[in-house]
Amino acid sequence: MIHHARKRFGQNFLQDAGIIYSIVALINPSAEMQVIEIGPGLGALTKPLLKNLDHLDLLEIDRDLVAYWNQQNLQGLSVMEGDALKFDFLAWAQSRSKNGSLCKVVGNLPYNISSPLLFHLVSAAAAIDEQVFMLQAEVVERMVAPAGSSDFSRLSVMLQARYHMEQVLKVPPEAFDPQPKVNSAVVRMIPRADFNLNGTQWASLERVVAAAFSQRRKMLRTNLQNFSDRLSLTEVELKARAQDITVARYIEWAKALVK
Ligand code: SAM
Repeated sequence: MIHHARKRFGQNFLQDAGIIYSIVALINPSAEMQVIEIGPGLGALTKPLLKNLDHLDLLEIDRDLVAYWNQQNLQGLSVMEGDALKFDFLAWAQSRSKNGSLCKVVGNLPYNISSPLLFHLVSAAAAIDEQVFMLQAEVVERMVAPAGSSDFSRLSVMLQARYHMEQVLKVPPEAFDPQPKVNSAVVRMIPRADFNLNGTQWASLERVVAAAFSQRRKMLRTNLQNFSDRLSLTEVELKARAQDITVARYIEWAKALVK
């Protein structure tokens, strides 16, 4: 099929066989595993994945690509047309998950929607065992950045509060056609078993983290002044900046705010 890559859908198709092999090895598919691939495109990952799975679900927004996959009529493949930002991953995981089989969400994601999509997926984290995504390298660096580093940001705190994350592969633009303008990287995300925030506490974490990072260069004394009567910030913390506070401490503050 001749398919012209669509910029609005963030279409950069993987071409490099070595990289494709490495990503599939990282996903480590096995017959019973429940897997959904976001944005299969022309199938760089899809076909090698399907070789090792009894069943694979695809979620693709581009109608032409959905038609392409439907025509292929491949055994074990289910194709859904839809926007990943609106898809109910929790319902998918709950309906698919069989006793004991691992449940994974994978994909070479459209970079233009990566942050909102990562936040959207948090709502399904309790039912997912692992996510393996290719993203813009700069975003992955922020996701895995430790407290104290210049890349440590709102995205780092929120996602590290919910997942263990690891950058597992760097991918240069030449691995794609068309080539993106940025470097890419693969991240593995495993929901934290010790996550214990309820919905109200999570919303509180979002609020306090957004306030702390609202002006990166300002001290927390300023950024958190609306919360100061309910949080007991130490002298050191009052003079610190948002990037110096650990994820564990943000979680303590989120809980304290809704006690
Ligand atoms: N997996 C293929 C590969 O590695 O060559 C394609 C990756 S391409 C970077 C991103 C894919 O996501 C495209 O197929 C695009 O049409 C699809 N896509 C873009 N926005 C989407 C959305 N909101 N929901 C679902 N799929 C989307």
